Amino acid sequence: MYLEDIFGLKGKVAIVTGGRRGIGQVVACGLAKAGAEVVIFSRTLSGETVKMIIEEGGKAYDIAVDVTDEKGVDDAVAEVMKRSGHIDVVFNNAGICIHEDTLTATVEEWRKVIDVNLTGEYIVARAVGKAMIENKIHGSIINMASMSGTIVNIPQWQASYNASKAGVIHMTKSLAIEWADYGIRVNSLSPGYIATPMSEDTPRELKDAWMPLIPQHRMGKPEELIPAILYLACDASGYTTGSDVIVDGGYVSF
Ligand code: NDP
Repeated sequence: MYLEDIFGLKGKVAIVTGGRRGIGQVVACGLAKAGAEVVIFSRTLSGETVKMIIEEGGKAYDIAVDVTDEKGVDDAVAEVMKRSGHIDVVFNNAGICIHEDTLTATVEEWRKVIDVNLTGEYIVARAVGKAMIENKIHGSIINMASMSGTIVNIPQWQASYNASKAGVIHMTKSLAIEWADYGIRVNSLSPGYIATPMSEDTPRELKDAWMPLIPQHRMGKPEELIPAILYLACDASGYTTGSDVIVDGGYVSF
């Protein structure tokens, strides 16, 4: 078998949650270039990612859905099955971050972050896992974690975010074992600091404080996540499940 066959996604259907902007948008374009038909799940539909993919000769459409809405996600997954016939890959990427000092943060803020980052990924993985099992599809689910699931970032405080991402890493391992016999692989990706609209909102002095802690002394680019996602999505990673792949410029090892 040729490398382009095992590393390619020709004929596959890939859902990308939070694919309207940031990492999700760049990775969606990468998956489409590898041959997948891409379906964007996003609360707000701008159509921009779909347009970018189609202009490059790829196939894509988007569905408006909030990943915290169980019924909405079930309906969206059913719509993909009806329209595309199968779901082979999910990049469970939608997420939010609130920087807060635990003593002044509200429980409401904690719940919001856990709800989107952990429960939202659970709801999407569960709906897609069910569809894969019912249709005997040997698919790949890639959950977006973060290095924050392993280390505690400084100097900003973000207990809810760190806890949500640690939860994603262990939920991933749990689903990987639970669904191994169905031929479904579940892995997580843990990036370090990546330059996206989420991190653009971060004050300059915070970014300056991060640099000495990153062995490569720079933030990553969203494009630098595509090869790791592609590996987890395609047949090349057939024996990889329950893994957390870290792409962080060396931060976690420092
Ligand atoms: P962005 O804020 O740029 O993009 C997040 C995306 O998630 C948006 O498209 C947003 O779309 C979508 N989203 C948010 N809430 C929901 C929801 N309830 N339902 C559906 N979609 C939702 O973030 P990034 O691209 O930076 O981050 C993407 C993922 O990567 C997140 O999980 C983040 O935690 C993780 N990550 C990011 C890092 C970084 O440094 N940037 C580092 C490590 C991990 P819309 O508002 O239209 O719904």
